[in-house]
Amino acid sequence: MKKNLSAKAMQEARELFPGGVNSPVRAFQSVGGEPVVMESASGPFLTDLDGNVYIDYIGSWGPMIAGHNHPSVVGKIEQQLKRGISFGTPAQPENRLAKEILSRMPYIEKIRMVNSGTEAIMSAIRLARAATGRELIVKFDGGYHGHSDSVLVEAGSGVSTLGLPDSPGVPRNLAEKSISVAYNDNQAIQKVFEERREEIACVVVEPIAGNMGCIPASNGFLRLLRSLTTKYSALLIFDEVMTGFRVGASGAQGLYNIQPDLTVLGKIIGGGLPVGAFGGKKHLMREIAPDGPVYQAGTLSGNPLAMTAGLATLELLTEETYSRIWEQTQKLASGFEEIAESHSVEVSVTKVCGMFSIFFTKSTPKNFRDVAASDTVKFNRFFHLMLNQGIYFGPSAYEAAFVSSTHNQDTTKKTLQAAERAFAELGQTKPKRVKE
Ligand code: PMP
Repeated sequence: MKKNLSAKAMQEARELFPGGVNSPVRAFQSVGGEPVVMESASGPFLTDLDGNVYIDYIGSWGPMIAGHNHPSVVGKIEQQLKRGISFGTPAQPENRLAKEILSRMPYIEKIRMVNSGTEAIMSAIRLARAATGRELIVKFDGGYHGHSDSVLVEAGSGVSTLGLPDSPGVPRNLAEKSISVAYNDNQAIQKVFEERREEIACVVVEPIAGNMGCIPASNGFLRLLRSLTTKYSALLIFDEVMTGFRVGASGAQGLYNIQPDLTVLGKIIGGGLPVGAFGGKKHLMREIAPDGPVYQAGTLSGNPLAMTAGLATLELLTEETYSRIWEQTQKLASGFEEIAESHSVEVSVTKVCGMFSIFFTKSTPKNFRDVAASDTVKFNRFFHLMLNQGIYFGPSAYEAAFVSSTHNQDTTKKTLQAAERAFAELGQTKPKRVKE
C-alpha cells in the first residue's frame, strides 16, 4: 500500500496543527504509525490521497450512519445551499429537524440546537445546576462527555487513549465539583448518593458507553440511576450524542424504556455537519434564555445546512434500515469471535445496533477498569494488520466501531477475510484459505 502523499500531507499538517491534527484521536498516538489522510468518501468507503480504498468503520465517529455522501443527503444540502448558508434568524430547517427529533424521542418536549456535543453537555449541565440549585455532577469512569471543564474528569475517548485522567488547565475547584464513579456498579453509585445526596445536581451517563469501547449499561443500573435521581431530586442526563438514532429509532432511552430528564444529542442529527442539541421536559427547558435566566447562545446554532443534513439523514432511518444495520453488526461481531477463537486469540466482542468493539480480553468488560485490563498492544497490532488490508477501525482500543446502512454482505465478507489473516498472524497460526 503506497502512502507517500498521505505522509507528505501529514508532514505539512504537523507544522500547522498540534500533533498534525484537529482532534487528538486522529493522530494514531496510541496505535503508533502514521495517520492516513483522506481525499474522498462514498457509502461505506474512504479513499486516501494515494488512492487506497478502505472499508470505513469510523463513519466520522458516528454521524455517517447513512453512509458517506448519500445522494439524498447531498441533494438536500445542495438545495439549501442555494437558499442560503446561514441567516442568524429563525428559519424553517430548524423547525423541521426539531419536529422530527421530538416525534422520534417523545421524552424530549423542547429542544435547543447547538454546534457540538461538547457544547450541548456543557449547557445541559448548566441547566441542571440552575434548576436544582446544586453544583455537584456525577459521571462515570471512561464516560466521555466532550471536553468542557466540568466533565474532563476520568473521561474516556481520546483522554483515556492519551492516559490523561484529567487535563491541566481545568481549575481544581471546578474538577472537585465532579465525581466519577465506576460504570455498571450499583453499589458505588448508591454510596455516592448516600454520602452526597443534597449536593448532587445531576448524573450524566452514556446509557450505552461508546468512549471506552462499546459497553452497554445493564438495565438494572440505568433503572437504579433513574430511581436514585428521582429520590434525591437530582436530574438524570442521558448523553446520547453517540447512541441517539444509532442504536434504534428512539435511541438508548427507547431501547431501555427509561425517561431521562434531559437528553443530549449530536453526531447523527447533523448528518456529518457540526451539530449538537439538548432537550427534555418543558418545565426545565423554560429556564433557558430567552424564556428563562440560564444563558445559552450560538452564532451558528441551528445552521440551516446542518439542520437539513440532519433531517435528510433521519429520514433515511426507517425500521428496515435499523434491521439491516443490526444484521451486519451481528454478522461482523460473531464472525470476529469465531475467527479469533479458531486462531486461539482471546477476544470479547460487544455489540448493539450499529456499534461494536473488539476487546482483547477473555471476559466481557463491564466498565473502564475491565477495558483498561484488556491487551491494547494486541489491539494495536490488529488495527494495523486490518488497516494494511484496507479495513479502517478507530485508531484506539478505546473506540467503538460504527456500522452504516451502506455496509452490506460484501463489506462484511471482505472485513472477515481480512480478520482471518489478522487473527492468524496474532495467534501465529496459519490463515484458512479465503476465497477472494
Ligand atoms: N458525548 C459523547 C457520548 C460523545 O461520544 C462525544 C464525541 N465523541 C461527545 C459527547 C462530544 O461531542 P463533540 O465531539 O461533538 O463535541
